[in-house]
Amino acid sequence: MRVSGVVGSFGNSIFSEMSALARAAGAINLGQGFPDFDPPAQLLDAACRAIGEGHNQYAVSHGEPILREAIAEHAARWYGQRIAPDTDVCVTCGASEALWCALQALVEPGDEVIVIEPTFDVYVPDIRMVRAVPVPITLVPPDFRLDVERLRSAITPRTRAIIVNSPHNPTGRVFSRAELEAIAAVCIEHNLVAIADEVYEHIVFSPHQHIRLATLDGMSERTVTVSSGAKTFAATGWKCGWAIGPDRLTTAIRRVHQFTTFASATPFHYAIAEGLRLPESYFAGVRDEYTQRRTVLLEALRHTPLAVFEPEGAYYIVADIGTMANGMTGYQWCRWLIETIGVAAIPLEVFYLDPAAGRTLVRFAFCKRIETLQAAAERLVELTVVQR
Ligand code: PMP
Repeated sequence: MRVSGVVGSFGNSIFSEMSALARAAGAINLGQGFPDFDPPAQLLDAACRAIGEGHNQYAVSHGEPILREAIAEHAARWYGQRIAPDTDVCVTCGASEALWCALQALVEPGDEVIVIEPTFDVYVPDIRMVRAVPVPITLVPPDFRLDVERLRSAITPRTRAIIVNSPHNPTGRVFSRAELEAIAAVCIEHNLVAIADEVYEHIVFSPHQHIRLATLDGMSERTVTVSSGAKTFAATGWKCGWAIGPDRLTTAIRRVHQFTTFASATPFHYAIAEGLRLPESYFAGVRDEYTQRRTVLLEALRHTPLAVFEPEGAYYIVADIGTMANGMTGYQWCRWLIETIGVAAIPLEVFYLDPAAGRTLVRFAFCKRIETLQAAAERLVELTVVQR
């Protein structure tokens, strides 16, 4: 039987592939970005309590009121953003579903959608499933700064939207106010919708600061902000995410959501609502702990022949395998790393429309316990002596 041409062109997710190889080889998995520690105990209790209290049937489609209210409070507390929990929020099955629904709701077949590459791997397939056209703007090492002229020259009469991910997976860039203002100016001038993927909003390293794109002048009416409990609360398996935006855009997103998953897992709405209301000390703790984890992995990688790029936010470190690749692509090198050194990473070629652009770059995740990172560091030291 025939399968859809678009879907037929998709390969297996690199994250699943590298995780399976890591498991089979007993490698330390710094590939896929999931923590090897639990969410805060208070959230575990809240999820169990919600189950015990009978929150086990379909949630309100666009999210239980308690979570929508907590999302609105959080937006006001951290960004001074005023949103109406009844009309401006749609809770989804992770940020992934929010992205999917936003693209389905706001983009037409044939429209062009700008992505800033290297890009998180779901954007391009999602855009293609809407039969729209992804248009990449490439961030170039070593500083991965946004080239505003490139962005301007990529705009055509068919450009409809731009996906802006900050803090950025995989480079760790936290876009500066100047970069975000340049993006905002382009959006306003060309009447574009911005889809702001801010799932790493609380993982930002001093002195960098996360700025919510929707709070810049002229952006609130044209921005859909996507976030999730996955990263802030180390709860990737709970798949509790959301989209925030003006009523007209969010209503369209809700329409897609009601016919996609209808609702996401109810007990986690209660637990994540409690998380979003935690005191400031919790969020400061997240930042401090990730700063320590970053230090351990950065030091380990700096002792290897890899060229390492220091992240400003999120929980990944990009490295260039250049001189030690011996003709291997990043993909081949990552397989070799698993087999020879016992550490898994992700090749960056899958984050580019043209894989050649990221051929010598790889990504290591540091959302792991310090012990795990130290164990990986002991193995990575071998890179200094292994010749291939
Ligand atoms: N956006 C980015 C940039 C991500 O890195 C991830 C998870 N790796 C997601 C969205 C997906 O988030 P969720 O697990 O909440 O669907």
